[in-house]
Amino acid sequence: MRTLQQLTRTNIWNLAPYSSARNEYSGHAAHVFLDANENPYNDPYNRYPDPLQLELKERLSTVKGVPAGNIFLGNGSDEAIDLVYRCFCETGKDNVVAITPTYGMYQVCADINNVEYRTVPLRDDFSLDADALLAACDANTKAIWLCSPNNPTGNSLNPSEIEKVLKGFDGIVVIDEAYIDFASQSSFASLITSPSDITATPIILQTLSKAWGSAAIRLGMAFASEDVIALFNKVKYPYNVNELTQKQALKRLNDVYTVQNWVKLLIQERERMIDAFLQLPLCQKVYPTDANFVLVKVTDAQKIYDYLVEKGIIVRNRTRITLCQNCLRITIGTREENNELLRALRTL
Ligand SMILES: *Cc1c(COP(=O)(O)O)cnc(C)c1O
Repeated sequence: MRTLQQLTRTNIWNLAPYSSARNEYSGHAAHVFLDANENPYNDPYNRYPDPLQLELKERLSTVKGVPAGNIFLGNGSDEAIDLVYRCFCETGKDNVVAITPTYGMYQVCADINNVEYRTVPLRDDFSLDADALLAACDANTKAIWLCSPNNPTGNSLNPSEIEKVLKGFDGIVVIDEAYIDFASQSSFASLITSPSDITATPIILQTLSKAWGSAAIRLGMAFASEDVIALFNKVKYPYNVNELTQKQALKRLNDVYTVQNWVKLLIQERERMIDAFLQLPLCQKVYPTDANFVLVKVTDAQKIYDYLVEKGIIVRNRTRITLCQNCLRITIGTREENNELLRALRTL
């Protein structure tokens, strides 16, 4: 098996990180802060935020059942996606393997970092073919990208196929669980702390942007071994999660009950919308979904998309994506918003 050092870019492994003022005094109780060139006025916005967001991680640890030391927090999960490339993938040499179709940022970050991005199509029913994924890997493959429930298809990937990848690959396996709160299947986050016989180094991504109703504050999570978390912390910007975000996230996390109610309501609405779509002549197929959106195959995606835009209703046209010809990805909104969409589609 490759060690974490062998998986990591040499310059990153050897990197001496920036030491921020707020890191250096730690361990002592202090009340006079003359170390960071801050303005003493305009409390509480005058102070740099906690670079490691410890209070927030403690709270998340309780909510998610993952120890605080196994949590990285970023400016959206997009930051963690980028960090996978910056920490592990040697530009112009290493490659990653991803399912397709899936979330677009894996490829964008690969392209930005000049890392070869290999794609392996899901089966026609959008299920994961672990053997095909493993066959696309070679000695320079550093990471595999999985997303479950997957965007834009909506389905959860089969857990036993995911396990096959975790046991068949000797490198980083990212499982993006942005939509896990809507899914019936359970999170792979328990992998991080429970000993197992996998060969892969797992990184689980979650976010406050979807079920938690907090896309605006930009807070993403990565759950991984303490060694991987230490690498991410070394490479990230020192104050990557600002004070307003940390405060607002704590507030949101202290009201889990409201979030559970939103999720329940959105799942009810999702099932109602699926039934309604199936009644529409323009609807050719509704794909099974475990997320807060539905992928719908229609007669003419571009025409219907343009018609809806005309009416001020925006959905996502996925017709040019692999395996998604004539598909629209439709997010579940409020009951009123959903009804407005249905009214528009019925009068097309
Ligand atoms: C929406 C989404 C995210 C969230 O990204 P943030 O940067 O946390 O807002 C991550 N992964 C997938 C698959 C998504 O659809």
